[in-house]
Amino acid sequence: MGSNRRKKTLTILLAAILGECAALLLVVFVLTSFGPAGSGNYPVAAGPLHIEENGGILSGDGEYNLPETISGGRETNNETVDETVRASENSAWDIDATIELVKNRVSVREKIRLEAEGANAVVYLPSANKADTVIKKMLYNGKTAVYDRKDTDIHIMDAENGGYLYIEYEILLSDKPEILSYTSDSVLLTNFLAVPAVYKNNAPLPSYSYSLGDPYRYGIYSYRVLLKAPKEFTAYAPGKILETVKGSEKNTVFEAENLRDFPVVLFKNAKVVTVKYGNTDIIHINAEPAKNYSVSAVKQASGLIGPYPFRELFVVAADFPLRGMEFSNMIFISRDCFNDPSTLKRLVYHEILHQWFYGIIGTDQINEPFMDEGLVTYLTSYLCGDRTPSYYGKSFINKSLKDYSSRAEYNQSAYADAAGYFAQLHGKMGNAFFSMLKKIYNEKQYKILYFEDFERYLEEFSGRN
Ligand SMILES: [Zn+2]
Repeated sequence: MGSNRRKKTLTILLAAILGECAALLLVVFVLTSFGPAGSGNYPVAAGPLHIEENGGILSGDGEYNLPETISGGRETNNETVDETVRASENSAWDIDATIELVKNRVSVREKIRLEAEGANAVVYLPSANKADTVIKKMLYNGKTAVYDRKDTDIHIMDAENGGYLYIEYEILLSDKPEILSYTSDSVLLTNFLAVPAVYKNNAPLPSYSYSLGDPYRYGIYSYRVLLKAPKEFTAYAPGKILETVKGSEKNTVFEAENLRDFPVVLFKNAKVVTVKYGNTDIIHINAEPAKNYSVSAVKQASGLIGPYPFRELFVVAADFPLRGMEFSNMIFISRDCFNDPSTLKRLVYHEILHQWFYGIIGTDQINEPFMDEGLVTYLTSYLCGDRTPSYYGKSFINKSLKDYSSRAEYNQSAYADAAGYFAQLHGKMGNAFFSMLKKIYNEKQYKILYFEDFERYLEEFSGRN
């Protein structure tokens, strides 16, 4: 990636060469023991350069040192990771965050790379949807930032040339079943890290918190995250590269690219069952009964739309108020839904199909919630052999989340009616419908598919069957 990381890598190598022989042998050990399966969320196997960077430990004085032992993947050792995000130092990652969990309090120190977007740089703070989020400190390019916070949007004043925003904030987790919550056995941290807002036609799209639907909108970002938590917890998130324990604290480092949100779940004593599909580990956390459905959903979606490009997919049984929910490289299925195989299958299919329409191909979930929900609902019914949803017209067009006043109205319009719309298109287009989805996959991967884009694809593919 950037020159900054390359410099650090050289420092690590130099330290190894100048240090004792054991350190050098360690590098060799690390290079050979980090297989693709143990490394991060990369479409291409991580090369030695990358792995050395993973192994580097940044000490308090800003120098990289090699730890005595490094564990890759999901193993543990007794070293500590003494690395924190510093306000004064740039990062090669879009998001570089240090997260400390103390009971129900999450402290985040985060560096966000901003594109040059003129004087209206906006950072999106998704945690404010579900939890009290208090900003403690904010620096823009090393100086105290002048900003205006409106709900989930932070407008940075005079942000003329891109650069870096350093932000410290604290999130208070709910003790109720929620997607941002804390119990003595599990911690759910989802839709919580601040990211640059999504821009459309050079203007930031405003976001807002709302109780219905998924009021989350993301671009695509690379993440490096250091999580500090009590050692009794094991953390699961995309791209785990290092886990160390010192005293009562466990530090876990994640590096992952091409993600929208960055989800983390922590459990004490989870039952973890991993099933391999191609290069992907489908990791079931307390969710073993979902494993046959998850594998077949990934297989079928890959065939119809395009391959699942990530190393990991987490299927998590969780306590939260909905039946299922999608995150980048992760789905939640409510624990209540594991008793009925038919419901479980459809939920797993629905949330896994969101890995394509939301994760790989982004959508504007705030202004066009029907785009991913309707398509995913239709594809689920198609793949599960259900009755074709009826077409009642496009009641959902131009409806933002806040245009819906009840969950019943939202479910009927953005899910059921929109599914009927996509079913009707498939009926008219025949196999050209899936040719169109494949082309969308190729052209809109890691971008956002707005409905206006979809209509252009429709025009192109209509009458081709
Ligand atoms: Zn959905």
